[in-house]
Amino acid sequence: MKKKEHFERLLSQRLDELLTEPNEIAGSRTGFRAHHPDYLDRGSMESDTSFAFHIKERESILTRKIKDALTRLENGTFGICDECRREIPEGRLKARPVATLCIKCKEEQETEERIGE
Ligand SMILES: [Zn+2]
Repeated sequence: MKKKEHFERLLSQRLDELLTEPNEIAGSRTGFRAHHPDYLDRGSMESDTSFAFHIKERESILTRKIKDALTRLENGTFGICDECRREIPEGRLKARPVATLCIKCKEEQETEERIGE
C-alpha cells in the first residue's frame, strides 16, 4: 500500500511536469520574440519548430507511459512484468517507474530487436 502511494505520487508529479512545461516554454518563447525582434533573423525558425516538435513527440510518448503506469497502479498490475508476470524489483521501478518489463525480459527483448535488424 505504501509502495503504491509512493509511485502514485511520483508518477502524478512527473505527469504534472510534462503537462505544464510545454505551455511555459511556449509562453516564454513568445515573450522572448516580442522583446528580441532580431531573434527571427538568425535563421532559427526551422530548427526551433522541429525542436518543439521533438519535445512534443517525446512528451506524448512519456505522458502515455505514465498514464499507463497509473492505470496499472489502480488495477494492481503495477510492478508486474508484462512478459513473465514476475515482480519487477523495486530498485528498477524507482529508477524507471514506467517500466513494464523486468530486467531479464527487457534484455531478451533488446537482444531480439538486435537480431531482427
Ligand atoms: Zn520478466
